[in-house]
Amino acid sequence: MKSQGIDGGFYSFRWTSNRSWVRQTSRFLLLVLAVTCLRGHPQQALAVEEALQAVKSSISDAAGPRDVRLIAVSKFIPADVIRTAHDAGQVDFGENYVQELLDKAAELPNSIRWHFIGRLQSNKVKKLLELPNLVSIETVDSANLAKRIANVAADARTEPLDLSIQVDTSNEETKGGVQPQDAMDLAESIVNLGSVRLAGLMTIGAAGDLSAFDRLKDLRRKMAKHLQVPEESLQLSMGMSGDFKEAIKRGATSVRVGSSIFGARPLTRPPRKAS
Ligand SMILES: *Cc1c(COP(=O)(O)O)cnc(C)c1O
Repeated sequence: MKSQGIDGGFYSFRWTSNRSWVRQTSRFLLLVLAVTCLRGHPQQALAVEEALQAVKSSISDAAGPRDVRLIAVSKFIPADVIRTAHDAGQVDFGENYVQELLDKAAELPNSIRWHFIGRLQSNKVKKLLELPNLVSIETVDSANLAKRIANVAADARTEPLDLSIQVDTSNEETKGGVQPQDAMDLAESIVNLGSVRLAGLMTIGAAGDLSAFDRLKDLRRKMAKHLQVPEESLQLSMGMSGDFKEAIKRGATSVRVGSSIFGARPLTRPPRKAS
């Protein structure tokens, strides 16, 4: 490269030394990458911790002086990532599938409070209630299901189990829940059962339909009056990643947030660990 003269010489000198610098740096980065992978994704752990803090501060901004519970929805999220959030101080977690919940709970500490928030079939109730740190079922939508849960709870548990009634506030049958006009009868059957406790109302609501939250709050007011209990004794579980701030402003006492904490969900549940 003599034709490039002094400049060419200068650059070729720089290039040579750059090359070894590049080689050394990439070797170093590969090492860092390998260590990172072996140590169980600290990068992801940091992201989950930070996202959790961000969600918590959004919740307290929207809630003002009220206490709003955060349920971290961990469906399809592997146990080690849940552990990271738990180590960062999160206690309440929500799961949608019985077998997935039991598999992951077996690997995680009993200090986690599990809330069941998925569709529950009667034939899975017994299995679900074997989990000692299951604290609530939020998706009760029939008197038969409530009765089945109460019967199993009478044998399996010493403390009454919290049940919430899932209400279909957006007239979307695909998401489940009782129609608002049927919620009162269901509430009455639940309060007449032993070994369970009526904890409140839950709704999913159609995306963008914020009036669903107002309808749930209104239903709680009527229900409290009907049952002659204080309104605040009934929880309002409403609001997810996309709308939890709006839900809190409309009276939510409990929000269920998944992807804003854990990132986009994998499309399938984690594989069962061989035991
Ligand atoms: C998955 C799920 C959530 C959380 O949804 P995100 O949009 O990820 O926050 C909340 N509630 C129920 C019932 C769910 O199934």
